[in-house]
Amino acid sequence: MELYRRPVDSAEAEAAEDEVGAAGQPVMAAAGGAVAPQSASAAQSSFFGEEPTIKAGKGMVAAPPAAAAMPADERAEALRAIREDIGDCTRCALHKGRNTIVFGTGNPAARLMFVGEGPGADEDAQGLPFVGRAGQLLNNMIAAMGLKREDCYIANIVKCRPPGNRTPEPDEAHTCSPFLFRQIDAVRPQVLVALGATAATYLLGARQPLAGLRGRVHAFRGASLIVTYHPAFLLRDPRQKKEAWADLQIAMKELGLKKSRD
Ligand code: SF4
Repeated sequence: MELYRRPVDSAEAEAAEDEVGAAGQPVMAAAGGAVAPQSASAAQSSFFGEEPTIKAGKGMVAAPPAAAAMPADERAEALRAIREDIGDCTRCALHKGRNTIVFGTGNPAARLMFVGEGPGADEDAQGLPFVGRAGQLLNNMIAAMGLKREDCYIANIVKCRPPGNRTPEPDEAHTCSPFLFRQIDAVRPQVLVALGATAATYLLGARQPLAGLRGRVHAFRGASLIVTYHPAFLLRDPRQKKEAWADLQIAMKELGLKKSRD
């Protein structure tokens, strides 16, 4: 509960374990996935209030149809092949300011996948998604669900840091997102969580107010897609964590996870 009630500050990282601390034992009801329950944990969260600015699309293309199911042992190899295809990418203007391509990370056979907007300064420096303060909050959210970060797969709409952390332009998102779609097809998560309006826009293929997308289950490439707030937004407006937690509970229900308490 604590995670969702107090303001998030610079001490959040250090206090992470306390925030998601012992309460109950989430139970993974559905078998066959790679996500394992984490011992002890409870928490909640919620997101949003404002919507990041997304410019009206020059052609917000719909996602291509889902790929055929892939045996679990081939998923890691499929992800490696996608990374090789990306190479030292210069397909969009974002390559000019990047330090590192942030491909994505996590369990190649994850049942739960998170998609954010794009790398920030910390991610650009380390080559990993969600490693700054927003990443720590995402880790707390995952822990609140009774899971571990390494159980999940985490990626972004664009793989190079936009200058000044601006929202990716539609042409940049449309150029890069096909690689993300291939990653989704390789991992084949049961549940996708879109973190913020940019992720929701480019996953669902249309610009819509976040408020109208939250609170329900969308179908996307064979997965159940849940839309919630971006952790960076929650850092700015912790009051929205309760709403985010409600969204994550929908994801937990889709995964067969039982919440330990309200
Ligand atoms: S954002 Fe994506 S498409 Fe653009 S340069 Fe980086 S990897 Fe290539």
